[in-house]
Amino acid sequence: MIRPVRTQIFAVIGTPIKHSLSPVMMNKAFKVLGIDAVYLALEVDNPQKDLQILLDSGFQGLSVTIPHKEVVYSMVESVDDVSSKLGAVNTLKKVANAWRGRNTDWIGIVRTFGRRNIPVNGKKALIIGAGGAARAAVYAAKYMGMDVTVTNRTYERAVKLKEDFGCNILNFEEATEKGSDFDVIFQTTPIGMSGYKKGLVLPPTIFRPQMVVMDFVYNPVITDFLAEARNEGCMILSGLEMLLYQGAAQIEWWFNRPAPVAAMREVLIKAAGAEDYEFC
Ligand code: NAP
Repeated sequence: MIRPVRTQIFAVIGTPIKHSLSPVMMNKAFKVLGIDAVYLALEVDNPQKDLQILLDSGFQGLSVTIPHKEVVYSMVESVDDVSSKLGAVNTLKKVANAWRGRNTDWIGIVRTFGRRNIPVNGKKALIIGAGGAARAAVYAAKYMGMDVTVTNRTYERAVKLKEDFGCNILNFEEATEKGSDFDVIFQTTPIGMSGYKKGLVLPPTIFRPQMVVMDFVYNPVITDFLAEARNEGCMILSGLEMLLYQGAAQIEWWFNRPAPVAAMREVLIKAAGAEDYEFC
């Protein structure tokens, strides 16, 4: 058996993981907090086997990203109530030699809106996508008091969200037609992500001035979707803000103390080349 004796070890697990910005953000947080710990990026393609190895090797906490959030959810010893509603976890903590799971993605969304004091209670939200990130968006938008509609390429997956969360659903054609009726749009598909399909998931006719448009993609910081929205006079929110605040919530759970958000933001901006983005 191999175990660390002094420095605590943490990691983000997923695949592909090479370009993750989490290590730079989390290692900065450890340094500012004076915690003797290191945070790695680990390519993991078989969590069924690898989660136990990581536990036995002395990892204290893990961030979980695409495509493992759902499978890891089904493997952990216990989860909080929100995670069981979402059916996915993005954070693991070692407690009594077992993994406990939580989902902080939805917290990242709520904090992004909260930091900017965006008044969204009673507003109409359109969520594009029906994967794990969309489920967190539905939960967060409802939590903030929005009236939620989901649209997805595969309609059956949107139907599942309607059943699970009681939201409205539209197919892509209807969403294209009615998109500009909404106050807030969440783009939760990977379209526009570096290395993935380019372009816009729905046409720019859905945008109108004063709308709030959030893209979950953070690489690039300003996606084509956000650039078009900004051209139409919308307020834009990059996935980089969500990344920061979901990470801050992970630090808070692991160490039971406030995260050094300002320092984490500063390194993220530098690492992402986001100097021109008005980060909040
Ligand atoms: P997922 O579970 O695989 O879901 C992907 C969604 O995107 C599905 O609804 C899928 O539609 C849709 N989609 C994929 N390719 C498409 C295409 N070519 N045209 C139309 N729709 C398409 O993935 P996820 O976990 O939800 O993650 C989605 C994105 O959110 C990723 O880019 C991830 O990095 C990002 N994310 C960011 C943060 C952050 O902190 N900023 C946190 C979590 C996730 P179908 O159902 O039709 O396949």
